[in-house]
Order: sequence, then structure tokens, then C-alpha cells
Amino acid sequence: MQTEEKRESIEEKKEERMEMPVSEALEQGPGKAPVSGAEISVHDTENGHPSEDVYILAIESSCDETAASVVKNGRTVLSNIISSQIDLHTLFGGVVPEIASRKHIEKINQVIEEALTEAHMSLEEMTAIAVTYGPGLVGALLVGVAEAKALAYAAKKPLVGVHHIEGHVSANFIENPDLEPPFMCLIVSGGHTHLVIVKDYGEFEILGRTRDDAAGEAFDKVARAVGLGYPGGPKVDKAAKEGNPHAIEFPRAKVGDNPYDFSFSGLKSAVLNYINHAKMMCEEINVPDLAASFQNAVVEVLVSRTIEAAKQHGYKRVAIAGGVASNSALRAGMEKACKEAGIQFFHPSPIFCTDNAAMIGAAAYYEYKKGARAGWDLNAVPNLKLGER
Ligand code: ADP
Ligand code: MG
Repeated sequence: MQTEEKRESIEEKKEERMEMPVSEALEQGPGKAPVSGAEISVHDTENGHPSEDVYILAIESSCDETAASVVKNGRTVLSNIISSQIDLHTLFGGVVPEIASRKHIEKINQVIEEALTEAHMSLEEMTAIAVTYGPGLVGALLVGVAEAKALAYAAKKPLVGVHHIEGHVSANFIENPDLEPPFMCLIVSGGHTHLVIVKDYGEFEILGRTRDDAAGEAFDKVARAVGLGYPGGPKVDKAAKEGNPHAIEFPRAKVGDNPYDFSFSGLKSAVLNYINHAKMMCEEINVPDLAASFQNAVVEVLVSRTIEAAKQHGYKRVAIAGGVASNSALRAGMEKACKEAGIQFFHPSPIFCTDNAAMIGAAAYYEYKKGARAGWDLNAVPNLKLGER
């Protein structure tokens, strides 16, 4: 009964509540907000209130995208704002960490305000604030972490620290309401290449990883060498559409003792040698053929090892995650191989593959439900390993 009354008064307060923009919350500081989060949140099970929908404001700033998103119950994206710095870094042929940090500072408040506005919600209505705290560029991560701590402190909300790679994996939950662990997942991004069993939410068994370059890194380096520029992945993908994937036979590296480990540096060197040789002979390089052949070599290895692992470990569901998961040949190759093997294939839309905050909100939901809360000492951890907290 008491809970009922409390609930009614909560609802009344909720209706009366005015929208509180981010900047105002920060200015007002803790306890000075119109109604404190702890008093009014109907979502907050920590205070004995009935459990309802969980709304998470998620922030991502680990590399060159400043992003914020409001995610409901880990699966419904109410807003997904991404401010990309690509144009800025293109001038330098790659991400300049110092410039990335400064740009994050400039953009972050605006991006968060937009995320709340697009979701038609106020900061007060959030259940928790989530932020990527690693891995990534330390200066870039610090901007998001400091912002999230300030907002959580001012609005009296719980804070959840999210592992960036866990975020990439969780992007699969957004558009696939039926996908639940366990499943096999290939994580391929600019900095990471992992083949993992997602045993439970936030729980991974790593079967294989790259011994040298990440898959995305290989795309970026090859693109630069052939003059396609930055960001390499999408440009190679586009050029490859016009090329013959069997025009040039590049090597497929086998890594000795672990059948699920990857190596891309040999392939990258083979492409560079091919380019140098052609230059020496004054031969013109057919860029689409080279892009298609390189891409085919990468995709073949990624697909065959993932399917092999799924079969051997008895998984009937395979997902892909990370920036390279938006590669059209990888998606098509994986789709075909899964179909042939009777495996269900999951992949996020391209916008949820590259860095975004919606995936951080999805991962944060399951962390929040498990009771994970970060303290005010939450710090950026640039080399945070998968599975580490
Ligand atoms: P990280 O989280 O490690 O910074 P992201 O998840 O943001 O990386 O992914 C960026 C990487 O994805 C880059 O290396 C980029 O080249 C690659 N990438 C993006 N789109 C494609 C694509 N269509 N094909 C291949 N690689 C791609
Ligand atoms: Mg990423």
C-alpha cells in the first residue's frame, strides 16, 4: 500500500517535472536539481521502487566519433547521435589523438543534448548514465568518462562503465530481439580481431585473436598504400565492387598452434610487395582488382575460421561485430556460409557496426541489470582487454 502511494506521488512528480537540459544539470550541481533522481525515478529498483523500463543515456568517445544515445531496456534505440571527426582526420591520413580529444570536448554536450531531445526525454528521466571507459585513445576516453561522471553526479544517477568491445558485440541485440547468449561472435574492428563464444551477457570465451594487425587496420593500411586514403575500409569495400576478387592470388595465413588465431601482416606485406613491384615495372595497378582480391583474402579467412569454430563447438548462431562487420563482402560471405552450414546469422546494420553509443547503451543495460555500478573513481583504461573489468 505504502509502495502504491509512493508510486502515485512519483507519477505526479513525474508529470510536473520540467525538462532539465544537460548544461543546466551541470550548473545546478548535485542536490540542486528540481527533483532529485533518487526521489523520482520509477525505474530505480535500488531504492525499492517497482522495476519498470530502464532508460540509459550512453556516451561513446573512445576514438574519433563523439556519440550519445538513449536506449530503452537494452534493445530499443530512442536516439543515436554520432558526430564523426572523419573529415578533420582525413587531412592527416589517420586519427590524430590530440585533435580527437579536443574535438570531443567541443562536441560532447551538444551531442548529448541532441540525443535526449531526439528521444523526447530529459536527463531526469534516465535510469542510469553509461560510458565507454576502454579500450581506446586515453585522451578521447577521458572526455566521455569525465562527462558521464559529471552528469551522473549532478543528476544523481547510477554510473555504468562499459567495455567498448562488449558494446560492439551488444550492437547485435538492438535489431535482433530474439538473439540471446550463448552464440559465436566474430569481432572485427580497427583495433581488434577476436573470435569469441558469447557465453552470457558480458561473458566471453576467447577462441582466437589476431597475432599482429587487426582486420580493420589491414584494410586501412592497404587503402593508404594504394592511394584510396582514409578511412580505408569503406573505400576498399567500394572499389572492390568494380573488381575481380580472383584477379590476384594473395596468401591466406595459417597460424601454427591455434586454428582460430588470425594474422594479417603477411597479407598486408604481400599487397605492398605487389604494389612496389608494379611500380618498379612501371605497370599500372588495377585498383578495383587489387581491392577485391585483398578483401576476398581477408573475408575467406574470417568466414572459414568462424564457421569452423561454430561447427566444432556446436553453435547454431553466429554474429559479427565491429567496424569491419559493415563490409559488404564479409556480410555476404558469412550469410552464404552460415546458410550452407544450417547456422543462423546475425549482424548489426552498418550504422551500429562502426562506433556508436547505442551499442554502449545495449551493453550497459545488461551490466546495470547485473548490478554493476561504477564509482566516482572510474578512469579511462586505454588498453582494457576483452573480458577484463
Ligand atoms: P575501433 O572500435 O577499433 O576503433 P571501429 O569499430 O570504429 O574500430 O571500426 C573502424 C574500422 O572498421 C576501420 O579500420 C575501418 O576501416 C573499418 N571499416 C569500416 N567500414 C568498413 C567496410 N565497409 N569494410 C571494411 N572495413 C571497414
Ligand atoms: Mg569501435
